[in-house]
Amino acid sequence: MNQITVVVGTQWGDEGKGKLTDYLAKDVQYVVRFQGGNNAGHTVVVDDKTYKLSLIPSGVISPDTISVIGNGVVIDPNVLLKEITSLQTQNIYPKLLISQRAHVIMPYHIAMDEALNGYQDNLAAESTKRGIAPVFADKMYRHGIRMGDLLDKEIFREKLVKSYDFNVSIIRNVFHATFERDLESIYQEYLGLGEKLSLYIHDTEVELYQAYKLGQKILFEGAQGMSLDPDHGIYPHTTSSNNVAGYCEVGSGVGLNCEKRIVGIVKAYVSRVGNSPFVSELGGEKAKTLRDKGQEYGTITGRPRRVGWLDLVQVRQAVRVSGINEIAITKLDVLAGLEELQICVAYKINGKIVKETPANLNEIRSAEPVYQNFPGWGEMTESTKDRIKERGFTELQKTMQDYIKFIENEIKCPIKIISFGPKRNETIIR
Ligand code: GDP
Repeated sequence: MNQITVVVGTQWGDEGKGKLTDYLAKDVQYVVRFQGGNNAGHTVVVDDKTYKLSLIPSGVISPDTISVIGNGVVIDPNVLLKEITSLQTQNIYPKLLISQRAHVIMPYHIAMDEALNGYQDNLAAESTKRGIAPVFADKMYRHGIRMGDLLDKEIFREKLVKSYDFNVSIIRNVFHATFERDLESIYQEYLGLGEKLSLYIHDTEVELYQAYKLGQKILFEGAQGMSLDPDHGIYPHTTSSNNVAGYCEVGSGVGLNCEKRIVGIVKAYVSRVGNSPFVSELGGEKAKTLRDKGQEYGTITGRPRRVGWLDLVQVRQAVRVSGINEIAITKLDVLAGLEELQICVAYKINGKIVKETPANLNEIRSAEPVYQNFPGWGEMTESTKDRIKERGFTELQKTMQDYIKFIENEIKCPIKIISFGPKRNETIIR
């Protein structure tokens, strides 16, 4: 295994990065989140236990692995504390380090997010309303509050006065919305939260750099997916932090002058929450079947996701912008039982065949999918799954093998990991 591995989503998130991160984590010393916040949700299933994670890296289930929340992540301390407690009740005691440079989501960020969501209507992705965009905006305005600030009473007050005043003025005077909390109650509450988390707050950038220099193995876990990246995704229907693999250095503070194993997670079909053009979207009964079978309801919000056929225009772009050198394909079992499958190989825009996602929103809105058809595969019983685990790729049904080979040939990237169920052991390496 390489010293540095990065796991990223190639679609709209929910590809199964949590499962794959857990699968790869047993061989590394550190697992690092480098962007996003509690707008991400990951599910890890080990034996008969299911773990729901949001801010803590999915490597946390491996007992010897150190979990790092890097400087590029934004943290709601109340949510983080709940997640730590919930893991502890499942007998997982996180070896957790939180960057002192990670920004803090404050109550007024959540109120601002509510107000913004109404204002933006159809432009912008539907927000999870967790305060993510406003906290990243404050970071760029340069009046954000960082985890380390919660440990310094004077600095925290100085920064809070500015940040509170700015945000609450906009909430009240621009959006004419209510925000009841006064500065003092927030100050006292967040000082208390800082104290509770103080044992985890750390100079993670230095620790990771030292680990890197010592040759220790580090796994970076991306949240969301390429089409939600604010630079490379379908802007403005995106999230608020970059999630392409290159961002792992910015969001963890470690310069990685080395070759990396960059694993792109591709779900065998596509799903997304919220509005934005979705070229290969399915409707009607087919969509309902796929949604229910794939459990395509938001981990955090419970919202039903839109679903569609695998889109290789999207995956091709993800391979290019993240420098992906290996693919893990997930949820092949969900497609089992369908007679015919389709893969979107290109878009037709104004009569022209296009193989790259256009930057222009109108062009992508008018894009039609160009499909290639494939015969499906039969249901995967427990005994077929056991045979696959034992003997590997050649035990997969021929139609599934062909589906996989077609994809890797189209995107020019090898598919090396195959996942056919949510459990850790429902995975093979090819
Ligand atoms: P992430 O955001 O990319 O980490 O993905 P999530 O964890 O939010 O969503 C993926 C969901 O699919 C989780 O419930 C996983 O347990 C599940 N999952 C992952 N891989 C597979 C698979 O190969 N087959 C099936 N049926 N479920 C899977």
